[in-house]
Amino acid sequence: MEPSTAEVRVKSGTDEQQDSMAQSSLSRGVHQIPSMGFSNAYLVELGDQSLVLIDTGTPNKAARVLAYLASMGRKPSDISYIILTHPDGDHSGSAAALKRLTGARLAIGELDAPRLSGEKKLKEASGIWGLILGFVGLFMRVERVKADLELKDGSTIGPLTIIMTPGHTDGSISVYKPNEAIFVGDLLRTDGSGNLSLASAGMSRDMEQVRRSVEKISRLEFQMLLPGHGRPIEDVASKKLREFVRNGFR
Ligand SMILES: [Zn+2]
Repeated sequence: MEPSTAEVRVKSGTDEQQDSMAQSSLSRGVHQIPSMGFSNAYLVELGDQSLVLIDTGTPNKAARVLAYLASMGRKPSDISYIILTHPDGDHSGSAAALKRLTGARLAIGELDAPRLSGEKKLKEASGIWGLILGFVGLFMRVERVKADLELKDGSTIGPLTIIMTPGHTDGSISVYKPNEAIFVGDLLRTDGSGNLSLASAGMSRDMEQVRRSVEKISRLEFQMLLPGHGRPIEDVASKKLREFVRNGFR
């Protein structure tokens, strides 16, 4: 979860419609689901007619995912997997509902699975962030759900490879489509111009681990970088990420 007020935009209906035209289909079989609000969710075409949903947004966003699917001429059962980059409520909020509505298999990094299922607290934070989380929790009820698949470093789902990128949460993962795209969850954020920044320190478990995870994915090749918040980088993204690392993560 990355509560940055700069990223929370209040939109009128008209803005949302314009947004949906602009943000829906990226390239290389990757779609950003429009009108999801605070958090990003993506659909990836696997090439065998099936789709993978990466992250599910805050609670009550299932209808938006299904509406976008319908606009693609696809049906709920075409989603074969739902992969969560991490269990924070702004990414897992609609996971339980979407699992029911699509019949997809739900997957998450193995170390984060107990937080999704409710065996462990969803999120731990101290100080001011603890207070903010407590406050957000009053409004955002996240339905707990057990994952069907607990992912490890190197696990594969079709053409997608799972890379363990802990730091924001203990079990955070990135989803990598070699030479094409990487979905990083909240390991990295971007602003409206696609400038990179690290996961927010206040909301992350271990910033040293965050930096090591960013270095790890900077050794991969990809054109697109798709963050959990902010605008996707659609071209030469691995080169931009290497510059970001060389520049002291700035
Ligand atoms: Zn988040």
